[in-house]
Amino acid sequence: MTETSSQKDISVIVPCYNEEEVLSIFHQRLSAVMQKIGMSWEVVYVNDGSRDQTLTAMNVLANRDKHVSIVNLSRNFGKEIALTAGLDHARGTRGVIVIDADLQDPPEVIADLVAAWNADVDTVYAQRNTREGESALKKLTAWMFYRLIKRLGNKVVIPPDTGDFRLVSRRLVDNLLLLRERHRFMKGLFAWVGFPTRAVLYDRAPRTGGKSSFNYWSLWNFALEGITSFSVLPLQIGTYMGLIISILSVLYGFWIVARTLLFGNPVAGYPSLMAVILFMGGVQLMTIGIIGEYVGRIFNETKNRPLYLVEKYQPASE
Ligand code: UDP
Ligand code: MG
Repeated sequence: MTETSSQKDISVIVPCYNEEEVLSIFHQRLSAVMQKIGMSWEVVYVNDGSRDQTLTAMNVLANRDKHVSIVNLSRNFGKEIALTAGLDHARGTRGVIVIDADLQDPPEVIADLVAAWNADVDTVYAQRNTREGESALKKLTAWMFYRLIKRLGNKVVIPPDTGDFRLVSRRLVDNLLLLRERHRFMKGLFAWVGFPTRAVLYDRAPRTGGKSSFNYWSLWNFALEGITSFSVLPLQIGTYMGLIISILSVLYGFWIVARTLLFGNPVAGYPSLMAVILFMGGVQLMTIGIIGEYVGRIFNETKNRPLYLVEKYQPASE
C-alpha cells in the first residue's frame, strides 16, 4: 500500500469534556504507545463543548504533533454523540481505537488490544478486571446493570464490565455508522453490529484528574437509555401486571359473592378498598410512565435532526 499523507492505519478517538488537566499527560502516554506499535496513526480529539481550556490544550498538542486531529463540536452533546462525531471523522483505514481521556483506560493497554487483534477479529474490547477508586455502590449498580441488560438484550450480547474502550476494524466502524439514531447507547450499538469479538482483561485505574461527569442520576438515565434502546420488555410489564391483577380480582370477586351469600353483608372493607384503589392508581401511573419513556424517544427520533454540529475540523497534518 502506498502511503499518502492523509492515509492512516489507525485512528484513536478521544471524546473530551473538561479534560484540560489530563490531556497533555494523556497524549504523552498515548504517543509513546502508538510509536511502539509501528503503524501509521492519528488521534482524533473531540472537544465536546468543554467549559475549560480543553480546546486550547488540544491546539497546543496539534501544533507540536502532526498526528493530532481536532473535531470541535458546536456545544456539549454528551459522550455518546461526541464519540460518534469522532468515528465519523476517523480516517484510519484498518481500525479505530476508542478510549477515554481521563486515563481510566490506560493507553498502554492499546498495545495488548493490537496484539490480540488479527484478520478474523473485528472487535477487541478491554474488559475490566477491577474498578479501583470507585465506590461499592457504583460497583454494585454497574454489576446489576450489566446483568439486567444481558437478560433484556434480545440476542444482542453486550459484554459485561466493558466500557467503550476497544479496538474495532474499519468494517465494523463503517457498519456502525449506518446506525444514526439519536438515543445512542454506544456499547449496545457496537454489540448490535456483531462480527467476531475478543476480550482483553485490564485493570481500570481511578481518574487521574478532573472529575467524572456522570453522577447517579445521569447513570440511571444512561441505564434507561440502554434498556429502552434494546428492549420493549418494560412495555410488556403493564400487560402482565394487568393480567395477573385481573385473575386475582375475579377470584376475589367470587370469594366476596360467596361470603355475602353465606354470611350476609356486614358492610366493612374500607381499608381494603383504599389499598386496592391506591395500588391500581400506582400501577396505572407507572405503566403510563413507561409508555411515556418510549413515546418521548419516538418523538426525539422523528425530529430527525443532525446528531451534532461541528464548529471546526482540523485534520492531522500528516
Ligand atoms: N465526555 C464527553 N462528553 C460529556 C461527558 C464526558 O466527551 O458530556 C468524555 C470525557 O471527557 C471522558 C469520557 O467521555 O473522556 C468519559 O467520561 P467520564 O470519565 O466523565 O465518565 P466515567 O469514566 O465516569 O464513566
Ligand atoms: Mg472516566
